[in-house]
Amino acid sequence: MPLPQPLTTHVEELLARGGDAPVTVQRADELYGGSINDAYRLETTAGRFFLKVNTADRFPSPFKTEVQGLELLRAAGTLRVPDVVAHGELGGTTFLLMEFIAHAEEDRDFQARFGRSLAKLHRHTHGSFGLDHDNHIGLLPQVNTPHKDWAEFLVQCRFEPLVKMARDGRRIHPGDVLRFERLYGKLKDWIPAEMPALLHGDLWKNNYIAADDGQAVLIDPAVYYGHREMDLAMTKLFGGFDRDFYEAYQEEEPLEKGWEERVDLCNLYPLLVHLNLFGGSYANRVGAALRKYV
Ligand code: ADP
Repeated sequence: MPLPQPLTTHVEELLARGGDAPVTVQRADELYGGSINDAYRLETTAGRFFLKVNTADRFPSPFKTEVQGLELLRAAGTLRVPDVVAHGELGGTTFLLMEFIAHAEEDRDFQARFGRSLAKLHRHTHGSFGLDHDNHIGLLPQVNTPHKDWAEFLVQCRFEPLVKMARDGRRIHPGDVLRFERLYGKLKDWIPAEMPALLHGDLWKNNYIAADDGQAVLIDPAVYYGHREMDLAMTKLFGGFDRDFYEAYQEEEPLEKGWEERVDLCNLYPLLVHLNLFGGSYANRVGAALRKYV
């Protein structure tokens, strides 16, 4: 979809704010690869920018929670995130205007640096699991009501709302709803106690960019304080992270024994997200993951 003219004019006004000269958008090239928003690379007289847009009725909270998540990650200071220029709504279109991150090849040590930095991010802790506000994962609402106990948080804020959504939408096999209920009572015994860790929350391979300064830049977060195995597990859902990444992470901040056996357990959450967003074969993937544990 070409960028609507009123939004182009609005972006020009936003970019000109605080400067002496007017700013013109010279080109808006649509970028592909995202699954949720329309994205553009903007060439302007003030430089290159990244813009993503959606319709306000689809995504009523206009990228606000995404910006809050990026700010939390930025404040932690261990991994780079894009600078946010502005976000808002114009005539029924929501938008988020950001620094454009130039993509580069990953150098030999990239994955190890990334793994180490993620471990450092996870050292940022909090008094409880959750966050002081709810946010989104993809287009879905993400409940972050604070809990002292990880297993309770996982059940009440992660599994239950999405199992209910999938059941209401008839996307999940009824037997799997029962399996989830049987799973809940066992979680406390299976998942080792850990401090709440600041998580990216949706860390699959398309949610980081290898930037031309050699750094991993985090995008599209669904931030909360959670069990750090959630981020590690998510990196394995669609692959794309190397052995060096995990080795460096382990050197920096070792994970509890057996974490790899809990990967599918943690990934029940992103699988439920995908099931609710995309349906189809995700019902079988949820069922297969569940059967490993119940
Ligand atoms: P989604 O629709 O899943 O939210 P995005 O809109 O974040 O996806 O991303 C769409 C495409 O734009 C992806 O290829 C992504 O790598 C790229 N991208 C996202 N943010 C930036 C950025 N700040 N700079 C450059 N490219 C970006």
